[in-house]
Amino acid sequence: MPPTRIPLIVGNWKMNTNIGEAVDLLTALTASLDYTPGVDVVLCPPFISVPTFYRELRESTLAVGAQNMHCEDSGAYTGEVSPAMLVHFCEYVIIGHSERRTLFGEDDAFINRKVRAAISHGITPILCVGETLEQREAGATDGVLALQVAQGLHQVPPNSRFVVAYEPIWAIGTGKAASASDAEQAISLIRHTIAGKLSPETAEKTRILYGGSVKPSNIREFISSPEIDGALVGGASLNPQEFIGIVTTTFTTGISQSWLA
Ligand code: PEP
Repeated sequence: MPPTRIPLIVGNWKMNTNIGEAVDLLTALTASLDYTPGVDVVLCPPFISVPTFYRELRESTLAVGAQNMHCEDSGAYTGEVSPAMLVHFCEYVIIGHSERRTLFGEDDAFINRKVRAAISHGITPILCVGETLEQREAGATDGVLALQVAQGLHQVPPNSRFVVAYEPIWAIGTGKAASASDAEQAISLIRHTIAGKLSPETAEKTRILYGGSVKPSNIREFISSPEIDGALVGGASLNPQEFIGIVTTTFTTGISQSWLA
């Protein structure tokens, strides 16, 4: 990985933890992860815990992210949270997670509006893309990824700061991670698409993560690839030992690679 792309590990807690459980988990994590030189770490708890995390992590190197947001700043959108609200508490926001796409019917056009809204507010969107098992088996993965990336980044200004997470849907929460070489190939294609859509410079500086059943036992394979800049972690981010293991392995892998370089 070029030195300009610092590895990034994002924990997506999904709809888990009430405020007490979230603070307990945060306390367990900060005991080991409060200072993580060489690896950026983002925690994405449920909305209700986001302001507390912002206050708790103000002096920490850990960053706070949200799991979703609406694209409008305000209005008659019952139950939604806007970028104008989140910007006070979050540096990052996950956009277009496959669960939002499949369970809540979000399409690429809506996801693109959210990506642009986040960027215009100075929140870094983490745009999730990935193919279904059927698309993979039909040989359609490359086309699906290129379209999701191109549509998700439509009219995004070149040089914008964003993250992309390649999350094959068949690997999310299943315990069946993609192979590092398949993830590397998909991520190369995503980077190539960003270069064509925005600019080669933007593609070179953009962090592209792998997500799908990442654990302490497999993170090294992913992070050892120069194309893969980190991970979006679901299930294992709810277990402090596992999440700490993923972050520390990312850190030690980076150190050993810089020695070899
Ligand atoms: C996710 O929800 O983005 C995810 C990657 O989940 P898991 O790590 O549990 O597969």
